[in-house]
Amino acid sequence: MDTVKLQNIITELLQVIGENPEREGLLNTPKRVAKAYEFLTAGYHKKIETVMNNAIFNEKYNEMVLVKNIDFYSLCEHHILPFYGKVHIAYIPDGKIVGLSKIPRIVDVFSRRLQVQERMTQEIAETLNTYLQPQGVAVVSEAYHMCMMMRGVEKQNSSATTSAMLGVFREDARTRTEFLQLIKGSKI
Ligand SMILES: [Zn+2]
Repeated sequence: MDTVKLQNIITELLQVIGENPEREGLLNTPKRVAKAYEFLTAGYHKKIETVMNNAIFNEKYNEMVLVKNIDFYSLCEHHILPFYGKVHIAYIPDGKIVGLSKIPRIVDVFSRRLQVQERMTQEIAETLNTYLQPQGVAVVSEAYHMCMMMRGVEKQNSSATTSAMLGVFREDARTRTEFLQLIKGSKI
């Protein structure tokens, strides 16, 4: 990432919104903001292959694997404002499992970039589907959107839920219900 260029852009942004970039409190702001953006958009520079490498194992286990309440923080691509919440991920293996610690890392790769919640949810599900070829994958995310809360409709307590259901979670209502039952009651 061209950090100097980004810092210059932030300085300019400060001027345009009516600030004085020279005043004491703002002197290091461009540097800090650039650093924050580097972190918040790190997903662009992370390869999903690297995350999944050496983390897939052959295993006969064929019951549901569920990791719930994974925190995520992302930026909406329409306003570059945060949206954040929790993701619940389940899959039913078909011979292959992935190291559990990799699942939150998959979330980080897709959340740390400009996103819409719908696409993020889908991308997480498709990644697991591609790498594990499981019997099914289910991903549900619940999030608060700053662009809704701080501006526009100013609805403080409305959250958005998106889901992606693949394989047996899509085809079999009982499997889907079991998953939804297991994540019920988890709060953002
Ligand atoms: Zn937005």
